[in-house]
Amino acid sequence: MDRRGALPPVEIERGEPRSVVVIGAGITGLVAAYELKRLGVTVTLLEASGQAGGAIGTSLADGFLAEHGPNSFVTSAPVELLIERLSLDDDVVESNAIANRRYIVRGGKLVPFPMTPIAMLTTPLLSLRAKLRVLLEPLVRRRPDNADESIASFVRRRLGPEVLAYAVNPFIAGIFAGDPEELSMAHAFPRVFALEREYGSLSRGFMQSRRDAYNARRAAARAAEHADAPTDNAERAAEAAALAPVQPRLISFRDGLQTLPDALAAALGSTLKLSTPARLLHRAEERWVIESGHDGAVRAQAVDAIVLAAPAHALTAMELPAEIRRHSHPIEQVEYPPVSCITLGFRREDVAHPLDGFGVLVPAAEKRQLLGALFSSTLFPERAPEGHVAITVFMGGGRDPQLARRGTDELVRLVRTDLRDLLGVRGEPVFAKHVYWPRGIPQYAVGYEVVKDAADATEAANPGLYVTGNFRNGVSVGDCIASGQEAAQKVAAYLAHKG
Ligand SMILES: Cc1cc2nc3c(=O)[nH]c(=O)nc-3n(C[C@H](O)[C@H](O)[C@H](O)COP(=O)(O)OP(=O)(O)OC[C@H]3O[C@@H](n4cnc5c(N)ncnc54)[C@H](O)[C@@H]3O)c2cc1C
Repeated sequence: MDRRGALPPVEIERGEPRSVVVIGAGITGLVAAYELKRLGVTVTLLEASGQAGGAIGTSLADGFLAEHGPNSFVTSAPVELLIERLSLDDDVVESNAIANRRYIVRGGKLVPFPMTPIAMLTTPLLSLRAKLRVLLEPLVRRRPDNADESIASFVRRRLGPEVLAYAVNPFIAGIFAGDPEELSMAHAFPRVFALEREYGSLSRGFMQSRRDAYNARRAAARAAEHADAPTDNAERAAEAAALAPVQPRLISFRDGLQTLPDALAAALGSTLKLSTPARLLHRAEERWVIESGHDGAVRAQAVDAIVLAAPAHALTAMELPAEIRRHSHPIEQVEYPPVSCITLGFRREDVAHPLDGFGVLVPAAEKRQLLGALFSSTLFPERAPEGHVAITVFMGGGRDPQLARRGTDELVRLVRTDLRDLLGVRGEPVFAKHVYWPRGIPQYAVGYEVVKDAADATEAANPGLYVTGNFRNGVSVGDCIASGQEAAQKVAAYLAHKG
């Protein structure tokens, strides 16, 4: 649809040469805009809502810190470099070492997930038959073709149905709030999918990739020791060292994850425009014209490039030229099932379980209301006042979308039943924060190639337009940071080529 003819004319501001608009101030768009600014590009970041961060948000009340979306994320070299550049090192909190323990519910009881091969052999989480099936994994033939398949089909084939039900199903609920029967192995877990292709077996592949990662870290450490960096190259040497493989850390920030978007927003200053939805795009004289804002206060800008970092479904509400619409349909169709996140605070003495771990994940086979519960006040310090604990639960997702839509009182009542049965929680909660995400996490469903191809085709047909966000190269906060950085690099290369 193109209604430009029907709209009152808006005067087009001729943006400076080498100017770019980024649409959407979630973590992907914030990082893209921050990197572009760092590279000397004139950038404007448009955000429809009144706050930067998108899915990332934190609130603090009555001494309880509640995360609205993600609670923690795993670092990588680019993430560590970003933290350093934003001077956030002192604000980082690493997860409690005990977070290595993750519980799974089996038969209504919490069972630690086996983290070592020995623990795998002795765990009560799996039957003897299932363990023998796991041991046979190296003997399972690889699939002859490269065709996509569901996570459920891949795991059933390589590891058997019980591992799917009690090890993989709950983790898929924890990461995607999704259903392994629907999600694509190749697109949701490309690295694990590739292990079968490269090594013929997951166990062989895991062992080899662990060895490779260890060797790469040692080589990087040796190179850093012997680096004779001239002073004028010091920054580049520091950057190279920072981008060498690092030991990943599970982190948050002292005041919660919102610290990260807040720091990026502060660094962007007036280039970030809140409450300013992008409404319309079109191409004019080798540049892009973008209209943004609300009725009566619409602004039109001509710029050299656009980075679309809004959720896939946001494209439907925007007026886009035919050359984008022709390709974007599969992107707009990506499903984001609803999720409800509830942080509850209890008196310590009202919770029987020691909460000694990351949390508990619930397999669908256990027929509970919860997808999982995080032991938030164990994971990071100062999430609950003295003598109290905080537990964050997730409900709905692809497993039961209708459940996520119910009201706070009903959900809290359902959660309390599950928490009573699983963790021995007795008393009334002294704190509750419910955040409902009508559209939670994009589902990388079987056949997701079509979405990836549509994003590639959209970019190829529209020079200077870049499509990014959690629906393209991974949903984790770390993936989104990498995607934002990659989009900025692509734009910078395009601008350099355009001259
Ligand atoms: C409940 C939940 C729990 C999660 N838990 C974890 C976790 O523990 N660890 C982890 O690593 N990841 C987790 N994730 C995933 C991760 O948080 C997200 O994938 C990531 O934050 C998405 O970032 P994004 O910038 O791509 O998109 P978003 O955060 O969705 O940001 C997109 C932005 O675009 C804006 N926008 C939309 N339309 C327009 C428009 N027309 N004009 C301008 N702006 C527009 C939106 O308002 C929004 O701010 C979780 C996600 C959810 C929802």
